[in-house]
Amino acid sequence: MQHIVPTSTETSTRPDQRDGARLDLARVIEALPDAVATAMQAVLPDQYTPELAAQIAEDAAAQLAHKQPSPGHFPWCRPGACIAHTADDGDSWTEHIGAEHHVVFPSSAERPLHLVAQLGYDPNCDDAPTVHLSEDSGNVSFLDTASTALAADRAGQLAATLRELHGQMSRTSSVFRDDGPLTAQLRGAEWMARWSCPPWCISEHGDRFGMDWHSTAPVETTLRDIDASTPESENARIPFLAARIVLSNDKAQAYGRETRVWLDYGTTTGELTAAKAREVLTAMRGFVIELEAVVDQAEEIAMDDFDGDSEIARLDREAGDRDIARRTAELEAKADAILAVARA
Ligand SMILES: [Zn+2]
Ligand SMILES: [Zn+2]
Repeated sequence: MQHIVPTSTETSTRPDQRDGARLDLARVIEALPDAVATAMQAVLPDQYTPELAAQIAEDAAAQLAHKQPSPGHFPWCRPGACIAHTADDGDSWTEHIGAEHHVVFPSSAERPLHLVAQLGYDPNCDDAPTVHLSEDSGNVSFLDTASTALAADRAGQLAATLRELHGQMSRTSSVFRDDGPLTAQLRGAEWMARWSCPPWCISEHGDRFGMDWHSTAPVETTLRDIDASTPESENARIPFLAARIVLSNDKAQAYGRETRVWLDYGTTTGELTAAKAREVLTAMRGFVIELEAVVDQAEEIAMDDFDGDSEIARLDREAGDRDIARRTAELEAKADAILAVARA
């Protein structure tokens, strides 16, 4: 039996099962109302009321209580998932199991690459909690704290590589799309020379309404526009986001050569220099992280949402209508009275 008994220096790797620690926290929570009242009177005498102090103490106590994992478990344990083991010799231990995080890569193959990351701790086999990074074909990496940081770094490298490959692909992808727009390259050298066209240009030069600037085919989000003030059918025709490169080089000797990224957000378009487009891209990446936090919180808050009672709503509307009718009658009576005085 190689059950590892944590020593006192290994507190970070063991569940919070020290009665001492829990007891201390309970005593802190107990002392909070008096402590907050005293502190408020000392530093915020103007704002102090016993009710406000009690409210603050209650909030702080709730936060502290929330930070206590269930006895004998880690804060990351998935409730109900941990497994109690008993060996033949009667020794028993708990295997701790965290949430499964799935990453499934899109594929036309029957079995796409599917990665699962999960934190776990089996005191019978591990010295400390370990991340299991596995692939459903059976490959698995066991990662300690340092290896987990390395793995996150590798995943970042993979993301950068995929972005680079995506760029290389999309620069040539229109050649392989039968339904895609005709590029200048496909139209041939004569066309390219006549319009000073770069190979990737899909503009219909020379056509009666043709443009004298050159454009790539737009990339678009599959997601359609989400404008709350526009009917669904109208939103469905417009991508949420779209981007294309536009090059102006007409009479370049005189007017210069100008590259812009046209970024459409709904029905609005930004005409950005490459440097400005890079700035926008960086800002969007940062915003995605913040949006995720907002969505997480909204999902939590939305759990208390409910539909109203249509019967109560009808009564409320009728009461409102009656109120308006009464006010209108009052105003009309007043206006009549004023008119009568004026006529007299
Ligand atoms: Zn557990
Ligand atoms: Zn062109």
